[in-house]
Amino acid sequence: MEDILVKGTIEGVRIYALCTTKLVEELNVIHACSPLAIAALGRAVSGALLMAATMKDNERITLRFSGDGPLGEVVADAKGNCVRGYVDHPQVCLPVKAGKLDVGGGVGAGNIIVTRYLANAAPFNGYCQLVNGEIATDLTNYLYTSEQTPSSVALGVLVGTDGKVKAAGGYFIQAMPDTDDKVLEELENTIVTLPYVTELLTAGITPEEIIEKIGRGLKVNINEKIAVKQQCSCSREKVEGMLAALPDKDLQEIELDEVTEVNCHFCNKSYKFKNTEIQAMKREKNQ
Ligand code: ZN
Repeated sequence: MEDILVKGTIEGVRIYALCTTKLVEELNVIHACSPLAIAALGRAVSGALLMAATMKDNERITLRFSGDGPLGEVVADAKGNCVRGYVDHPQVCLPVKAGKLDVGGGVGAGNIIVTRYLANAAPFNGYCQLVNGEIATDLTNYLYTSEQTPSSVALGVLVGTDGKVKAAGGYFIQAMPDTDDKVLEELENTIVTLPYVTELLTAGITPEEIIEKIGRGLKVNINEKIAVKQQCSCSREKVEGMLAALPDKDLQEIELDEVTEVNCHFCNKSYKFKNTEIQAMKREKNQ
């Protein structure tokens, strides 16, 4: 199944569903993740894509799940149909809990920090405490308590015994200001009867069909289908700009090394700079 995000509405309720199996497997390879780490990261990037889909194409959202668990921080950053992400400690493993990867134990207790980079306004920061570190519940709670938007987020990543991602995706239901409470109630009643999103995807049920399942018996509109992908926005120019912004004292220290290597957290790409380039940066800056 291709990675796709489908936008729909069910009688005034916003409902999006997506499949991210391929892009989550790409991240799995990029970061050499343990099953636990890719389960956490895959949920986070899927959640970020769902939330970015409620924003304008040129706006960006960053989700940071900052807990005291062994995975460290789990970060997902989405803009339009592109997402990137990383985990501080991607090799961490924990014993399976109740037959499932213990994502909550890996993330631990702490905060979710959400930054929205809006088109015509200063970045907006919001945060609240993590509920259980399972990502989807934390996002649902964040949207309700910090942004006063009653929503329901379901996210899942299925990792095979070979460590590869077999299915990843999720869905997101959000009440609009004029939503009829009865419709919401009906949707919630349906959701609890649905299998896990990874079970649906593994069975070949597409995001569009997931939306139809959730809205069974109600009027479902499918509005848009968008291909989603893993893509980092880093570039040599951006890294150069970052280096040039360092204080002179730091640059002096860096130029002692013949070659300085800067790694992008998000995509692991490495950028190398010769000390002569660092010296030139410093000269240009102090002109
Ligand atoms: Zn990058």
